[in-house]
Amino acid sequence: MLSYRHSFHAGNHADVLKHTVQSLIIESLKEKEKPFLYLDTHAGAGRYQLSGEHAERTGEYLEGIARIWQRDDIPEELAAYMSVVNHFNRNENLRYYPGSPLIARQLLREDDKLHLTELHPSDFPLLRSEFQKDDRTRVARADGYQQLKAQLPPLSRRGLILMDPPYEMKTDYQDVVKGIQEGYKRFATGTYALWYPVVMRQQIKKMLRDLEATGIRRILQIELGVRPDSDQRGMTASGMIVINPPWKLEQQMNNVLPWLLKVLVPSGTGHTTVNWVVPE
Ligand code: SAM
Repeated sequence: MLSYRHSFHAGNHADVLKHTVQSLIIESLKEKEKPFLYLDTHAGAGRYQLSGEHAERTGEYLEGIARIWQRDDIPEELAAYMSVVNHFNRNENLRYYPGSPLIARQLLREDDKLHLTELHPSDFPLLRSEFQKDDRTRVARADGYQQLKAQLPPLSRRGLILMDPPYEMKTDYQDVVKGIQEGYKRFATGTYALWYPVVMRQQIKKMLRDLEATGIRRILQIELGVRPDSDQRGMTASGMIVINPPWKLEQQMNNVLPWLLKVLVPSGTGHTTVNWVVPE
């Protein structure tokens, strides 16, 4: 079942959180000269038209990127992320939202490598055409979880693995843990960044317990909620689980989350979390 299309959700509050974390990790990896691999297991289409039918139908980006992109008090932790958003929106109109592969493409260096996988029959060709001229990148219509076995460890022995499944199948909550375990067996020093939605809090608690049970250490949880947990339909919060985060990430998120909460959730119903699920 592949009914999820990210074009309905691009640029929402969850993307803002995810892409902030992604860009901060990339910038930290760039502090060393040695190249690294960026592996995006669930890459999406790459570029999203915010004036398009899908984005307009939900209007989610209006409560996400549209709330921050033209403010004049943007914290420095958002500088890299906003530089990419601005790159795709040069004439003061917010027309395009760059997904995770395009954020990586803009921020990575000449010797870094990208490996992107996407399964959707409509989104895969869009992604492929975005990267046709980029020699650093391999784009495959393949299962993202398989890449954690097939592509790791990278030759460079440095890397960021972004896992961003749609969770339209309940099995995704177990598959992400299995996938991380497989990846970690082969590449224990990599940085793994897993996105999650809070729809039913119990599912996230179980996923975290399963992750803890793997024995993997250095697991940081970062979350931004817009409404209190609820039994009703819909996402009330989203988060990132980061394994082997760069040492600065905890502090950077503690700095920037209060600002994001204030700007993205003016109603005051939200919350933020930065928490070690498993420390050193
Ligand atoms: N990471 C993207 C971003 O931040 O711009 C968004 C990705 S979207 C949340 C999830 C994507 O995963 C969808 O485009 C979906 O088609 C794709 N997908 C679902 N199952 C997959 C699988 N097993 N392997 C690879 N891609 C998959």
